[in-house]
Amino acid sequence: MKVCVIGTGYVGLVAGTCFAESGNDVVCVDIDEAKIVMLREGQVPIYEPGLEELIKRNLAEKRLRFSTDLNDAVKQSLICFIAVGTPPGEDGSADLHAVMRVAAEIAEAMNGYKVIVNKSTVPVGTADRVRQVVASRTQHPFDVVSNPEFLKEGAAVEDFMKPDRVVIGGSSEKAIELMKELYGPFVRNEHPIITMSVASAEMTKYAANAMLAARISLMNELANLCERVDADVMDVRRGVGSDRRIGHHFLFPGVGYGGSCFPKDVKAVIRTAAEQGLDFAMLKAVEAVNERQKRTMVDKVTQHFGEYLRGMRFAVWGLAFKPRTDDMREAPAVTVIDALLRAGAEVHAHDPEALGEGRRIFADRVHYHRVNYDALAGADALLIMTEWNEFRRPDFERMRQLLKHPVIFDGRNLYEPVEMRQLGFTYYSVGRRPVTP
Ligand code: NAD
Repeated sequence: MKVCVIGTGYVGLVAGTCFAESGNDVVCVDIDEAKIVMLREGQVPIYEPGLEELIKRNLAEKRLRFSTDLNDAVKQSLICFIAVGTPPGEDGSADLHAVMRVAAEIAEAMNGYKVIVNKSTVPVGTADRVRQVVASRTQHPFDVVSNPEFLKEGAAVEDFMKPDRVVIGGSSEKAIELMKELYGPFVRNEHPIITMSVASAEMTKYAANAMLAARISLMNELANLCERVDADVMDVRRGVGSDRRIGHHFLFPGVGYGGSCFPKDVKAVIRTAAEQGLDFAMLKAVEAVNERQKRTMVDKVTQHFGEYLRGMRFAVWGLAFKPRTDDMREAPAVTVIDALLRAGAEVHAHDPEALGEGRRIFADRVHYHRVNYDALAGADALLIMTEWNEFRRPDFERMRQLLKHPVIFDGRNLYEPVEMRQLGFTYYSVGRRPVTP
């Protein structure tokens, strides 16, 4: 099938590449010329496991192209995906400028029937607005379909290739059949394609992210309570997770959720509810808890060292909002590093993939280290912000020798408190009492 994907970010690039991998002719379009030039040469602007290899192979086999020419891409395609960003506007609502602009450009480029697929996360009613914009600009027939994306950064290729489910919202049987044909290769393992109305599909994406964010904030609140009553949240997690109604996934307490999706999607649902005269009290609490949780690491640092941090040096392991990505959008590490810098402390950061992003955000206000141990030399303490696998079994003896004080603030519960005490560390984690040697 001939497909174009407009917006070549995390979602568009992965979707376009995976559609090419399954044998389709795909053009990925973006307004960012520098990005398109890089991609044409097989250089990938983001870190996502397995993606570079797929891009190179499909470029070489000429099933995948990168372009800034939306007009040409639309003319050559039967199915046109909109996968541009929908960042939060000032009032928390999703900013739909890019989506509507692309819809208008698609309409003006049309040369026959097209399926216009909205893959960006958008509020209920957006597909109807897209339909109106397109209808006002073209005489050619078309259908608008909602196809929200559920991939996780860090496992995006795997998620796209083997999705738990594919949601397709639409009312045209022809468009739905074409979408089922396109997704056929990805659901051969019996995972379902779920069809529904456009409004339900749009809502499903927000509902999924709202539930996941709620689960994280609930676990973080329970963790904070566990710390005070001397319970171990990791045991509590195991205890509740084995209830099949609850399940083990997404029960890890930490330093708050980040990334490009949960924060903005929670805000967008609160906003949509307000527009409908509803006070979404629960999601407001989810958001407030998350903001507070992002600051708990700094609170623990000041409880230990006192309010005066000027001149102190902190090592930070992990900048990305989660492992296996270089994405730092809304990352808790940003909040924590900002607070440490504002308090006059020096920050020495390491991340396996996100040092470039770190530099873009903090420039020379932070010291960057390619090797995790180098960040520790002479530091008053280590803060762990991301659960990269490479941090799970470090050389503790070497760490103790490098650090000025053997103090670790672990925002991801990577280590066992009892072992850390035996190894000679003062160890703060989440939802467990701190230990000292
Ligand atoms: P992104 O910011 O990484 O990429 C968006 C891309 O669109 C950028 O490359 C930008 O240059 C391009 N763009 C903007 N305006 C354009 C235009 N007029 N024409 C062509 N290209 C244009 O965003 P993303 O993370 O890929 O997210 C895209 C959408 O998918 C969002 O609505 C997001 O909520 C949703 N989503 C994201 C994820 C995720 O994990 N990142 C997961 C599921 C859904």
